[in-house]
Amino acid sequence: MLDAVRAAIRDVPDFPKPGIVFKDITPVLSDGPLFRQVIDALVQRWRGEHIAKVVGIESRGFCFAAPLAYALGAGLTIVRKPGKLPWRTIREAYALEYGEAVLELHEDAFQPGDRVLVVDDVLATGGTAEAVGRLLRRQHAQLISYSFLAELAFLGGAARLGAGNVHALLTY
Ligand code: AMP
Repeated sequence: MLDAVRAAIRDVPDFPKPGIVFKDITPVLSDGPLFRQVIDALVQRWRGEHIAKVVGIESRGFCFAAPLAYALGAGLTIVRKPGKLPWRTIREAYALEYGEAVLELHEDAFQPGDRVLVVDDVLATGGTAEAVGRLLRRQHAQLISYSFLAELAFLGGAARLGAGNVHALLTY
């Protein structure tokens, strides 16, 4: 299954900027049996960890976080780009592999001590996930782990997040 996922993920050179090789995971989403196997693998990894909330990072993270939360019987919480969330928010700024950005979370997204799993498609430098970790800490949620479809290990994101904290189905 992992070989099939690796084969499905498409390299797009110079997107969204020159010099970036973008890992396009949309072929994984559009292949029904493969998408189901990926979600099943994530469910198998995280079932039994008593996850209260799965956090999806905008926007490709939502695609994996939502079915995972459903299958685990956990809540889904979304972290979004600025100005998208309707309620009161807290925000964190961070550096990307290609630029800088801000992420927002509803101020009442978590109860203190909530066991939280953070999900995104690709781990690159780890800046995005680290910013989400800061948002969680500000709400005294308990970060159980980060879970990615793929990790670009040569960018050192796992080391930045604390290697024991990071799960990826695939490593590049
Ligand atoms: P980073 O903060 O550097 O770990 O970047 C992670 C975020 O940017 C994730 O939401 C990824 O979807 C996206 N991203 C960064 N670099 C890439 C890449 N080379 N291919 C695909 N997505 C990427």
